[in-house]
Amino acid sequence: MTDLMKLSALEMAEALREGRVTSTELVEASLARIEELNPSINAFLAVDAEGALATAQEVDELRAQGAELHPLAGVPVAVKDNIVTSGLETTAASRILEGWVPPYDATVVARLKAARLPIVGKTNLDEFAMGSGTEFSAFGPTKNPWDLKRAPGGSGGGSAAAVASYMVPLALGSDTGGSIRQPAMLTGTVGVKPTYGRISRYGAIALASSLDQVGPVARNLADAAALQDIIAGHDPKDATSLNEEHGSMLQVIETAGGKNAVEGLRVAVVNEIMEENYDEDVRANFERTLAELEAAGAKIVHLSLPSIKYAFPTYYMILPAEASSNLARFDGIRYGTRWVPDKPNPTVNEVMAYTRDNGFGPEVKRRIIMGTRVLRAGNYDAYFGAALRMRTLIREDLERLFEQADVYVSPTALGTAFPFEREVKSPVEAYLNDVATIPANLAGLPALSIPNGIDANGLPTAIQVVAHQREDALLYTVASAIEELVAEDVVAPRYLDDYSTPAPARNDSEGK
Ligand code: GLN
Repeated sequence: MTDLMKLSALEMAEALREGRVTSTELVEASLARIEELNPSINAFLAVDAEGALATAQEVDELRAQGAELHPLAGVPVAVKDNIVTSGLETTAASRILEGWVPPYDATVVARLKAARLPIVGKTNLDEFAMGSGTEFSAFGPTKNPWDLKRAPGGSGGGSAAAVASYMVPLALGSDTGGSIRQPAMLTGTVGVKPTYGRISRYGAIALASSLDQVGPVARNLADAAALQDIIAGHDPKDATSLNEEHGSMLQVIETAGGKNAVEGLRVAVVNEIMEENYDEDVRANFERTLAELEAAGAKIVHLSLPSIKYAFPTYYMILPAEASSNLARFDGIRYGTRWVPDKPNPTVNEVMAYTRDNGFGPEVKRRIIMGTRVLRAGNYDAYFGAALRMRTLIREDLERLFEQADVYVSPTALGTAFPFEREVKSPVEAYLNDVATIPANLAGLPALSIPNGIDANGLPTAIQVVAHQREDALLYTVASAIEELVAEDVVAPRYLDDYSTPAPARNDSEGK
């Protein structure tokens, strides 16, 4: 079996169960593919061959003894590098954490380990998950496996590219404003941001705590569901964790009934979200999927949500405010790298300032400055307070939407994978990438992105589905219908390809 990595996670699990393959063989195939492709794609910042092979060997031995194992035990997985892994370097793609080896596991990582999924490595991201192209990694950008001259989206471009290039079937991402869903669209993968609180944030390096959510990245919906099943559930270590039964999302999909599942469901399209500036093909493919949903018996409801127009500016007040507070802990005193100014007896403040100046990249500095400005006495009420009030209005509007509809849908992002060398007039233009994904974070709603076709350049487009809080099961149900409905329009990422253009070496990039 030379093409082991072509298998989905659930196919790998089945092959393991039936004794057609060992976990060691799967992990070796994953590591070989990483070794072959990572120099050009740069999806991984760290690879843990030793740890992954040790877990694989353990799984193989237990299986040989007939021990009861988790169904996905032995299937290789990758973890976004802003999620801490005990004993394995975790940098959040920032120089300020370069070389930091966490003393503990994030809860999601502990759950992967408990289910015995070998963790092959840590994936690249925009520094501290701030960005939409993985261009702001201090360790060089990740390349999109569909076209190495294009970005894979961000911030979770590493996880998305690793899955799209068949280095791993599964990866974890984090989504604060779209960082799982937007890269999913740009790489033709499936990305899910579950309901806020469904998945523990303990050990996920905070960007904006009230918006952050960890979630699965995969090449199909069933694999994503299987991964969500492993990591979801109450965690006493996270005060915002939902303490309630979750149920199996995989089971939901398996019993949903495919495309018939949407019969009679009310699927909303929000006028204000559709007014954004989508690429022609993104819009056309969205309209085609809508027509397919309607043909399958869904009722399409067109609604107006005036407050949604303010989701974008609201997010860009709340996110920097929370980020500037969260990032205050990175001072060179307690974590990671310390830069000491070259002068006699520098003060603690001078060391902190010098460390931050050298350790943080330009986008992180920009957001910290925005955040501290928003939070300044004198500005607080006008900016941060206003944003919080707006957030409440948006939530209320969305509550009304879910009285009239079961889910709402939109294109996931404005455009397909963009070239690295594109012209961006201002940071705001780049920020607009997430205009469709942000509302779900502001309201804590479960949302996912699933491929629905390709554009004129052969690049993947996607549809986003958003459900009411805690309705993750409904989200998966609708998505499983869509997956079936669009199957003929979708092109899977290519497996064999010439990924030969080398990515810049880890230290070539501009880290400052
Ligand atoms: N691209 C968005 C931002 O830069 C979202 C980031 C995220 O979801 N982590 O803020």
